[in-house]
Amino acid sequence: MNDADTPLERISKEEMYMRMALILSARSTCRRKDINGTIKRVGCVITTSNLNNVLSVGYNGNASGLDDRCDNPDQPGNCGCLHAEENAIAKCHAPDRDKIMFSTDAPCKRCAKFIIQNGFRKVYYLRKYRSCEGLELLAKVSIETEQLALTQNDILNQICSASNGWN
Ligand SMILES: [Zn+2]
Ligand SMILES: [Zn+2]
Repeated sequence: MNDADTPLERISKEEMYMRMALILSARSTCRRKDINGTIKRVGCVITTSNLNNVLSVGYNGNASGLDDRCDNPDQPGNCGCLHAEENAIAKCHAPDRDKIMFSTDAPCKRCAKFIIQNGFRKVYYLRKYRSCEGLELLAKVSIETEQLALTQNDILNQICSASNGWN
């Protein structure tokens, strides 16, 4: 078999969209901290059910046109920012009821309700949220959830070492 016949190693679509969500989280302007004291920067990508197209993206922060910071940075859970999932859903105008969400963090209870109301088939997340209530609500209405792990660094490192590097 010559080189042209060997299929190129590729990352999965799931990992591709989750990595996009992670990159989006780097645009977050929210200074809210999680229970470990780490600033909670969240990114979210919404795709079609066949995972072929991105429908919307979001990260946590204030509403468009307002200051790029929390209204109340010192009030945990009440900083005034929109959550990444809320932002992505607000900007998503696709009528598809089987949408897929990729979020760096499992949704809170309120975002889970928005997810339910806006027609999703599945939610992938990377990190657990401090409360499981959001995931439990989704399970109740049979919206699938799955925690992803990013495992395909090798392929990205190969590609990126040819330019400026991934790390
Ligand atoms: Zn905030
Ligand atoms: Zn939320």
